[in-house]
Amino acid sequence: MEHFDCVVIGGGMVGATSALTLAQLGLKVALVEQFPPKEFTADQAFDLRVSAISLASKNLLKQVDAWSQLKQWRACPYKRLGVWEDESAYTEFNADDIEQSSLGYIVENRLLQLSLWEQIELQDNIQLFCPENLEGIEQREVGAVVTLTNSKLLAKLVIGADGAQSKVRQMSGIGTTGWDYQQSAMLINVETSLPQQDITWQQFFPTGPVAFLPLSGKSELGGYASLVWYHQRDEITRLSALSNSQLQQEILKAFPLRLGNIKVISKGSFPLTRRHANSYQHKRVLLLGDAAHTICPMAGQGVNLGFKDVLALQHVIAEAINAGEVWHDETVLSRYERARRQDNLLMMSTMDALYVGFSHPSPIVKGLRNLGLLALNKVPVLNSTIKNKALAYACGL
Ligand SMILES: Cc1cc2nc3c(=O)[nH]c(=O)nc-3n(C[C@H](O)[C@H](O)[C@H](O)COP(=O)(O)OP(=O)(O)OC[C@H]3O[C@@H](n4cnc5c(N)ncnc54)[C@H](O)[C@@H]3O)c2cc1C
Repeated sequence: MEHFDCVVIGGGMVGATSALTLAQLGLKVALVEQFPPKEFTADQAFDLRVSAISLASKNLLKQVDAWSQLKQWRACPYKRLGVWEDESAYTEFNADDIEQSSLGYIVENRLLQLSLWEQIELQDNIQLFCPENLEGIEQREVGAVVTLTNSKLLAKLVIGADGAQSKVRQMSGIGTTGWDYQQSAMLINVETSLPQQDITWQQFFPTGPVAFLPLSGKSELGGYASLVWYHQRDEITRLSALSNSQLQQEILKAFPLRLGNIKVISKGSFPLTRRHANSYQHKRVLLLGDAAHTICPMAGQGVNLGFKDVLALQHVIAEAINAGEVWHDETVLSRYERARRQDNLLMMSTMDALYVGFSHPSPIVKGLRNLGLLALNKVPVLNSTIKNKALAYACGL
């Protein structure tokens, strides 16, 4: 049986980044993933799953040397963020207001993962097990035995970065609280008549928001974008069954005029759920990213929270090693949970408040929320304090 300091289950965006940051501390790491990411070619269609990553997340990707490759492939910077319900209360956040050149980047999940894997292959102290699947975890007093389909590994610490349906979480008996939002999100990649833009925007409706995320490059029509359409599940099921040209007509009716003309390239849908693990670590098992928390994706914070988990864990373990402590001891690992739980909970609750607030049908509530957005834009003291602070927080600054 091979021995490792850490066995990371899940080589997605969060797990792969964590493997690299733990290897930076000199630890011997195994990374286990069931599906290898497809290689990149320049003529390849955009991945349907894209993420808005914050400036702090970009800095983490730089720290693990994955950023320059990702940027060279495809990453679209955005400088402005527009939100509104009524056009009259349109509010725009601008990178200039917080003295940055951009607010973040729209990246394809698969390319982000692939850029991390290129770095993983260069590390002597990371061993990749792929394709491999988790079959069992035996938690012992010191360490844990991890059974994969084709091998058995011994780890001082098992890290579950295996996403929302985490087997690691289930096998280690960590419960969750959460609920279904009764909504789904439809992701639609389109060609746009407008060329590549520097803005991402979201308009709120009682049935859920519609959002625009710019993608990089030139298309026959002009540019590219990813659209997100939040709605009741039945409606998303109906929209998903339409042909691309029928869907195009529905989009042009439902989305704001500023979208311009579009042509649908690809589409897919995801149910929205909120889930929070009751504990982030238990007897040599620790959870990161979506395995620990899934959040309503409305403000595009899911993977950014996962990256904050990764940094917090690296920091806690580095401090323990420097202080001569046993880094995998439960007292050390509980510091990671203390560092992350409140921040994750705050973001999850803020998203829920936005979700509930903007879907409330009462005209009084509608008036109040539009007044709030308008005030953020027009009242100088609110503009320079609350708005810019919220912006800096969302960017991870
Ligand atoms: C519609 C939608 C839009 C979103 N938009 C944004 C956004 O704009 N910005 C943002 O920050 N976040 C966004 N998110 C959230 C973001 O996608 C997730 O937070 C992110 O993917 C979590 O990354 P992860 O690595 O923790 O988990 P995952 O991406 O789920 O990766 C888990 C990995 O583990 C592997 N795995 C699972 N089980 C096993 C097993 N048993 N054995 C081996 N390997 C296994 C999987 O194959 C996968 O590679 C969005 C989510 C949705 C649904």
